[in-house]
Amino acid sequence: MEKADIRSYDLEELKEFFVSLGEKPFRAKQAYSWLHQKHITDFGEMTDFSKQLREKLAEACTLSVLRQARVQQSKLDGTRKYLFALPDGNLVESVFLRYKHGNSVCVSSQAGCRMGCRFCASTLDGLARNLTPGEMLEQVYRIREDVGERVSNVVVMGMGEPLDNYQNLLKFLQILTGEGGENISGRNVTVSTCGLVPQMRSLAEEKLQLTLAVSLHAPTQEKRLALMPIAAKYEIHEVIDACRHYFARTGRRVTFEYSLMAGVNDTGQDARQLAELLRGLNCHVNLIPVNPVRERGYAQPERAAVQKFKEKLERLGVNATVRREMGRDIDGACGQLRRRYGSGKEL
Ligand code: SAH
Repeated sequence: MEKADIRSYDLEELKEFFVSLGEKPFRAKQAYSWLHQKHITDFGEMTDFSKQLREKLAEACTLSVLRQARVQQSKLDGTRKYLFALPDGNLVESVFLRYKHGNSVCVSSQAGCRMGCRFCASTLDGLARNLTPGEMLEQVYRIREDVGERVSNVVVMGMGEPLDNYQNLLKFLQILTGEGGENISGRNVTVSTCGLVPQMRSLAEEKLQLTLAVSLHAPTQEKRLALMPIAAKYEIHEVIDACRHYFARTGRRVTFEYSLMAGVNDTGQDARQLAELLRGLNCHVNLIPVNPVRERGYAQPERAAVQKFKEKLERLGVNATVRREMGRDIDGACGQLRRRYGSGKEL
């Protein structure tokens, strides 16, 4: 049997684990603090445990640690983009962003992705595997230790489809927002999905106070399907209904991500149809000029066209902002850094 990753256990599971090793349950609390507050990278660092116990742990489980393979820092705004190697050599990207309201980390949930969105670099090689809760936490922990500053916001908007890795995502969120760890408020956490309807409905029942972000990118089923294969499985109105449900159950306003592509989804008619689609829904639209990916061939609209699209939405009663582009100079689009370095096994 494969050994379990000790960083992926919540406190209850950790207690059971220690008991199963014939240890006292209070050891779990000590270990939890080493894992999730002190962010240790080696069992040897658990200095209040005997050498014998540390060796027993190293025998019985693994400890996920991410290795920083590359880091790029933007000269424009201090954004730092990390390429991390997982214990098995797979690579994922994470981003550190410094805002006025606090520091934010963008986390990957999978190595690769199987959703196939036409404009996205992360999905070009398909899905390698799901990340464990410990590997998702590690992205936050390594960045926190690297910059030496507290992280107040987490967005699960890196590589992968978080709701396609649902159980691990939930465990990650629980440890991230729970006491005894980073204790980040659920209100400061955003999970972004391409629109997996059953999981969106489940998430509404989790009482986590998260912001749900939904990648919409088109105002009609036909146009969306041309950009996002997942639309064949979950039709656009089903996605919008699941958003209404999410708001009704949680009181949290849903965010829509709409990546503007010149000549594809940026016309006045697109804006009108989008406003029509979202009518009566308490939501916010984030407009993101598409990040051109060499293999994809989509282009950003002119600045003025982006502004016009935003103003049109606002006139039609839809809240909209144009997302400030951070780290423009450092391979902004998800998956680009990883692609540049191939599978990463050689790093
Ligand atoms: N799988 C999740 C989260 C991953 S990506 C999702 O689909 O929401 C985070 C956001 O970046 C998504 O809205 C995604 O559609 C968008 N995105 C991906 N590639 C992009 C690109 N080249 N330009 C702009 N946005 C992009």
